[in-house]
This record gives sequence, C-alpha cells and structure tokens, in this order.
Amino acid sequence: MTEIVVVGGGLTGLLASIFAVDRGAKVTLVARGRGGLTLSHGCIDVWGKATPSRALSRLRMSHPYRLAGAESLRTGLEFLRDLCHQADLPYIGNISRNLRLPTALGTIHTSALAPKSLALGDLRDNTPITIAGVDGFRDFYPELVVANLLKAGIAINDALQLPLPLSAARRDPYAMDLARSFDDQHFRDEVARIWKPRLSGIKRLGVPAILGLFNPQLAHEELQERLGMALFEIPTLPPSLPGLRLERLLQRKAMEMGVFVIEGPKVLGRVDGSAKPARVSGVVLQTAGGARTLTADIVLLATGGVLHGGLVFQQNGRVQESVLDLPVSYDEGRQHWTAYSPLETQPYANYGLRVNEQMQPLGADGLPIYTNLFCAGGLIAGADRSGEGSRQGIGVATAYRAIEAALG
Ligand SMILES: Cc1cc2nc3c(=O)[nH]c(=O)nc-3n(C[C@H](O)[C@H](O)[C@H](O)COP(=O)(O)OP(=O)(O)OC[C@H]3O[C@@H](n4cnc5c(N)ncnc54)[C@H](O)[C@@H]3O)c2cc1C
Repeated sequence: MTEIVVVGGGLTGLLASIFAVDRGAKVTLVARGRGGLTLSHGCIDVWGKATPSRALSRLRMSHPYRLAGAESLRTGLEFLRDLCHQADLPYIGNISRNLRLPTALGTIHTSALAPKSLALGDLRDNTPITIAGVDGFRDFYPELVVANLLKAGIAINDALQLPLPLSAARRDPYAMDLARSFDDQHFRDEVARIWKPRLSGIKRLGVPAILGLFNPQLAHEELQERLGMALFEIPTLPPSLPGLRLERLLQRKAMEMGVFVIEGPKVLGRVDGSAKPARVSGVVLQTAGGARTLTADIVLLATGGVLHGGLVFQQNGRVQESVLDLPVSYDEGRQHWTAYSPLETQPYANYGLRVNEQMQPLGADGLPIYTNLFCAGGLIAGADRSGEGSRQGIGVATAYRAIEAALG
C-alpha cells in the first residue's frame, strides 16, 4: 500500500487526503495548525470575475488551473459536492454560472458552489429580501447590508432586528455561541415562536450565519418550515460558521475513511540522499517531545502559501518555502512585494512554487526536484487568488490532480 504524508490541514490538505485514501493509499495528514477554512465564507470560489467555465480555458498556461486541467477541477468539485451531500450539508451551484450572494457588508460575492443555507440568498432570484440582525450579536449590521445592496440596485425590502430567547448573557455572544444555541431543539422552537409574528408578509429573510454548527441543515430546514418563508444565511466575521462546518465535515470524513491525523507539529522534509533521481524519504515532525520521523513513499505539500506558513517572507528579502526550502518564484527586493495601494493587485499574491502538470515542484532547470514530492493549493505560484476569486477552486483542482498524478 502506498504511504502518503500530506502536510497541511486546510481545504486542500483535507481534500487531498480524502482523494488519496479513496484511491487506496495509506494517508497521514500532519498540520501545524488549522487551515484557513474558518477564515473563509465556506463557499467554493472557482472564478469570481466571470463565468468560470468560460474564463478558465483562456488563462495563461502557467496558471494553476491550466496546469491541473479542467477535468481535475470538474471531478474534484463533483467529489466534494457528493461528500457534502452524503454528510447532510448540501452544496448548490456549478461552474456554468456563479451564484451572487450578499455579504455582511452588503457587497456581492460571486461563487460557484455554496452551502444551501447561503445559496438561498442568491441575488439572481428576484424575490424581495428582508435582512435581520439578532439582538445581542454585535458582528452584523442589517442596515449596512440593506443600504449597500440598495445602492447596487438589488430589490431589498427592509432591515430589522429580531430578539433571541437567551437567558441573561454574561458576555457578548459570538457566532459560535449562537450556533451552539441553534443546535438545541428547544431553543429553535422558541426562536420560531418569537420570530413568526414579527415576520408577516416577508417572503425571503437573510440572517447572519449562526443557525447551528453540528446539524445546520436540520436547523435551517426546520426554521424555514416553521417560519413559512425562504430563509438564508450571510457569513459573518471569522470564525465563520459556514467555513467551520465544512472543515468539520472534511475532518470527520477523512478520519472515517482511514486518514490518520497529527495536529500541532511543524514539519520539515527529509531527503533520501542516496537516491538518484532525488527523492524525499518522508518528513520530520518537530514535537514538544523532540523530533519524530515519518517515512513515506509520497509527500504532498498543502501548506497554503504565505497566509499560513507555507511560505515565509524574511527580513533579508528572501521568500522561503517552510518544509524543504524549495525554490520559490518571487521578486527580488522587498520593495517589489507589495503594490503602492492596497486596492491594486499585490505582486506577492502570485508568489509560490512553480509546478508541472503533475503538480511536482520544479527547480531552476524546469525539472521536478524530487520524483515523489507533489504540492497543491495556496502554495502554487501564478494566481492572484483573492483578485480572481479562485482560492478554493485552485485548492480542489490541484489537490485532485496531485493525487491522481502521484497514485496514477
Ligand atoms: C490570514 C488569512 C486570511 C484569509 N482570508 C480569506 C478570505 O478573505 N477569503 C477566503 O475565501 N479565504 C480566506 N482565507 C482562507 C484561504 O481560503 C485558504 O488559506 C486558502 O484557500 C488556501 O487553502 P490551503 O488549504 O491551500 O491552505 P491553508 O488553508 O492556508 O492551510 C495551510 C495548512 O498548512 C499548515 N502548515 C503550513 N506550514 C506548515 C509546516 N511547515 N508544517 C506543518 N504544517 C504547516 C497550516 O498549519 C495549515 O493547516 C484566509 C486564510 C488566512 C490564513
């Protein structure tokens, strides 16, 4: 059985582990910390700037989507959608037409796939919307959402504030606190009882994403039915419940399928010095109790680029890859890393590892550095994920392609 070590516990690392175990590999996932899912909206952005299915074939050949190939994206998304469906967290959408979802700032987020409870807020549907905040929750301002959506020409009714059946709170509730309350059947019954008379005439209601953590689909469906209207969630500031729900689902699924998970240690790569061509022999985990070695047939890096430590920007002007010190594509000179205005495209966004179509990191000679080393996700050079609206799509496509290339 092929043994794979996947480094990184974000969307990319979790999915790569699941793809690999599904193909019969023995998988260990090691992550120093949590990935970025709880900082995201929980949707799968493929190409926010235009219709993904049309835009992707026109990208330059060095873009991660072109290298991974359209089929990897399609199959990876299908796989992810099936997983979510089986786990009772259905995702809606496709790459032929982006959803247009309201954000907590009243801007419009375009995404290919979204959890059903968010997708019901799709602004392509003309059913007028009312936006409600809930008493005591400070991280959501319905008036702001309404004012900005109106400016964008969206048919929107009103903003209102709804009470919650909370006992005397001892601190400001966060989204997580409220989600835990919504997991409770008795609490939901009370919410439905208190809200229903205040919502007469409303057809579609948007609320902050707080409707449960452990069984959000049940909470959402039940409330919709009891209130007699379409109800949708809008992601809030991190920790984002939709991102957290997806993270929980993927972690649970990975472990159920047999992935062994090690959380906490920083990972360094181990090179087999005697092999020709060069190979990695595994990784070294830096734990509190000392170094621990894991041997592997294949190592896959899903360490997420600069935001999560896959790339380290150093004071001396060097950008270093954190596991094997692989060559990084970046501009020499710190003054070139950022653009003058935060609104411009940031050069650093494109930095990362250059890879071939098998997702193998390349050296200066354009050849794979190690025959059994692969990478995926935010670590790969050549995409401004934030500007393109492509973060999650690149993670899915490259994770799928890397595992396919590694395991055949
Ligand atoms: C600061 C920040 C802001 C973000 N903002 C947004 C946003 O506005 N919108 C949005 O959609 N998404 C946002 N994200 C999430 C972003 O979508 C994901 O980070 C991105 O999709 C890349 O996913 P990934 O799985 O490739 O890597 P990540 O999700 O970044 O995961 C990387 C993983 O690698 C691990 N790791 C890194 N180096 C090592 C090492 N040497 N040893 C062991 N483990 C290691 C990390 O601990 C982590 O588990 C943000 C993330 C961060 C960190």
